[in-house]
Amino acid sequence: MYHIKLARDRRKKKRIKFVIFSGAIFSILLGVLLTFNDTSDESLPKNDHVFETEYHPLDSSHVNSTLSHSNNLNEDDMSSDNKDRIIQETDNKNTTLSYDDLDNKDDEVDQVDLGLSDNGQELPEEANKVLDELLDVADQALRIREQFSYTVVNGDSFSDVLQQSGLLKEVSDDLLKQYSELANIKPGQQFYWILDRDGNLEYLNWLVSLKEERIYERESEVKFKRLILEKETIWKKEILKGKINGSLSQSLSSLGLNSRQIAQLTKALQWQFNMRNLRKGDKFAISVNREYLDNKLTGQGNVEAIHIKTGGKNYYAVQANNGRYYNKQGETLGKTFSRYPLLRAARVSSPFNPRRRHPVTGRVRPHNGVDLSVSSGTPIIAPSDGTVEKVAYQANGAGRYVVLRHGREYQTVYMHLSRALVKAGQSVKKGQRIALSGNTGRSTGPHLHYEFRINGRPVNPLTVKLPGSSSQMGTKERKDFLVRAKEAEKSLKL
Ligand SMILES: [Zn+2]
Repeated sequence: MYHIKLARDRRKKKRIKFVIFSGAIFSILLGVLLTFNDTSDESLPKNDHVFETEYHPLDSSHVNSTLSHSNNLNEDDMSSDNKDRIIQETDNKNTTLSYDDLDNKDDEVDQVDLGLSDNGQELPEEANKVLDELLDVADQALRIREQFSYTVVNGDSFSDVLQQSGLLKEVSDDLLKQYSELANIKPGQQFYWILDRDGNLEYLNWLVSLKEERIYERESEVKFKRLILEKETIWKKEILKGKINGSLSQSLSSLGLNSRQIAQLTKALQWQFNMRNLRKGDKFAISVNREYLDNKLTGQGNVEAIHIKTGGKNYYAVQANNGRYYNKQGETLGKTFSRYPLLRAARVSSPFNPRRRHPVTGRVRPHNGVDLSVSSGTPIIAPSDGTVEKVAYQANGAGRYVVLRHGREYQTVYMHLSRALVKAGQSVKKGQRIALSGNTGRSTGPHLHYEFRINGRPVNPLTVKLPGSSSQMGTKERKDFLVRAKEAEKSLKL
């Protein structure tokens, strides 16, 4: 494990250096671009038009009737044949939403852009920031592809665990065939695993109990070797305090936390605030139960709670008896509906804005979603269980896009994709990869345009109260949790 880690770190450093270099070049190019930025994109005439519709195994009327009723959604197909019908239906419903406007949002200048478009002059001063952001994105992207952690909950099977990283059932089945013990996973147990660069499972660590850990390492295409670690050790509860220096991961690692613990914490916290906004010097405290062998840390441990203070606000993630983390109020942290359809939060390059005015024409052109700045090829994951309602393409609008339906009321929409990984009619599980982000259609740089609709109406994906955001714990469990949370708050004062 440590060898792997070191090799990885070295590889990562090399790649990060490369990214710094490309970042610098990129910043210079960006500066040049900004100088010539005439927002020409904004003034492009609207000419939306479905060039190609893929993956429609079900005929669309069938999809309509089985999947939705109030359905304006299928209409944002925007083919010219459909347009009259769309407008008519819209009028009939007396709604103020026009699906032409839905289109228009894709005309915006949302781009790679680092929020610099208004002050290109200050580029030299901003260059550092740009570089930082680029680095951070690259760093995250690397981690996204490689490491995953998961705490088992009731009803999980082993294939559910691996699916968190988009691995197919065949992979878990293969491993189960060799090690049937993996069929007996229990709530609260933790998994940590690594995929190689081709997305194959390379290493899996199963924390069976505080005394036992099992490691499965790929030996050949079809074989994994297993290592069982059992320990005679002492566990001590400690409070560690630190300040952010570098990324959160680096800061936690400098306190001696291992990759698994860091992965868990970042996963638990990521939906509460944007980690990218953490500043050097922000304080944090964690309560951790660590394992010692002959007075030396074994590297094993369990983080029970963390408190971070940033931007004048306090954030907590506290572990419940079930092994999962919740905020102080006992609300799940992105359990049933993730805030972002990504494995990690990303910077918002253009916010949701129903009253946005076009900077040139002055006309109201709602931005019905948020633009998340992600590099092309970033996996988009289903934020919740659902059904694929549509996969389509618009050369002059949304580009390649996907519409998911979650239950009767909710839909999520993903635009400018480079590739869809699902077909219309298919059901998807939360966390499943549905597409790769891109820069298709009318888009000025790689990003994901993400929409969240309730009964066909776009709402702000970043602020909407997510379905099922209340506690998933039973009454007794929740009561215990709130006591724990109180204690954590007390012991983690900053
Ligand atoms: Zn957008």
